[in-house]
Amino acid sequence: MHFLDQAKIYLKSGGGGPGAVSFRREKYVEYGGPDGGNGGKGGDIVFEAVQGLNTLIDFRYAQHFKAKRGNHGQGRDRTGGGADDLVVKVPVGTQVLSEDKEEVLADFTEVGQRIVFLEGGMGGRGNASYKSSTNRAPRQHQPGEPGEEMWVWLRLKLLADVGLVGLPNAGKSTFINAVSNAQAKVGDYAFTTLVPKLGVVRHKAREFVLADIPGLIEGAADGAGIGDRFLGHIERCRVLIHLIDIAGDDPVQAMRVVREELEAYGAGLEGKPQLVALNKLDLADKELGDAFSEELIAAGADEVFAVSGATGAGIEQLMDAVLSYLPDRTSTETNTVEVEEVDEDGGEWSPI
Ligand code: GDP
Ligand code: MG
Repeated sequence: MHFLDQAKIYLKSGGGGPGAVSFRREKYVEYGGPDGGNGGKGGDIVFEAVQGLNTLIDFRYAQHFKAKRGNHGQGRDRTGGGADDLVVKVPVGTQVLSEDKEEVLADFTEVGQRIVFLEGGMGGRGNASYKSSTNRAPRQHQPGEPGEEMWVWLRLKLLADVGLVGLPNAGKSTFINAVSNAQAKVGDYAFTTLVPKLGVVRHKAREFVLADIPGLIEGAADGAGIGDRFLGHIERCRVLIHLIDIAGDDPVQAMRVVREELEAYGAGLEGKPQLVALNKLDLADKELGDAFSEELIAAGADEVFAVSGATGAGIEQLMDAVLSYLPDRTSTETNTVEVEEVDEDGGEWSPI
């Protein structure tokens, strides 16, 4: 099962600067020779795979990447300056596909990988370069070569950093909707969510992928429950959020059931750090919350958070705790480009 983040973006390399038409002006020299310099080269569109990005979410806000054009050539044989390349930063794992998605044009597998994707246009020739024995005062010159333009799709396989587990109705769908950009289906009956949902969470300038692992019920690890197919997805999570319904029958029993499930599944799931969160805090008073927290700790929870996916209470602290389990992202790379217009087509986020 693959979860894909994808975005459609427009790329254009810079055109070359035009060549200049210019003649020397010197005292006592009636007709100076031609001295119009060549235009500068336009900026390239370069892709670079960087550390610190793990989604394509930025590309929903910035979809147009245009490198600048080269500068005009100038008199006195001065070549125009070349424009800076525009570096589009992408997460490792990103593929660049043609607009029809038929062709993989680039594939970024390691940090630092860099390719010049669209070359900037060459600068045009200035009139000095047309001087010959038969034409001593040429007025010829070239415009710069135009840049190249292209629409492409970026595609990235998303991996969950954080897994969300809990019995049906614990409030997982509601929670993931509250904290991320996912659009999970919410229902008040069991097994609503048939496929895991991924959401990208931004918290304190960090971002991570949260997966709602649905249907984790007794017997799931034996293939009896619908959760089984999806458990694989959380194997690589660094930390689990274990949601427990504060208004449920027996929170301690609920925690045990899910823990046994994780253990039965194996693959190291039971060994992952688990942040236990008593959810639906809005349905209980503080006393009950405190009492349940103590019981859960006595039953083996390391730390218990009281939260409400519905009101947002307590979520800040829980997310802080989540961040402490994720690797430090030393660089906070972002693409800073002008946003020119928003294209309805682009930047769609779709789990497939
Ligand atoms: P899931 O099965 O774990 O995905 O649970 P859902 O998110 O579908 O929620 C199950 C039910 O609990 C729904 O009726 C939700 O509206 C309700 N619910 C979820 N979170 C909260 C909460 O924080 N407070 C309250 N009062 N209800 C909640
Ligand atoms: Mg659900």
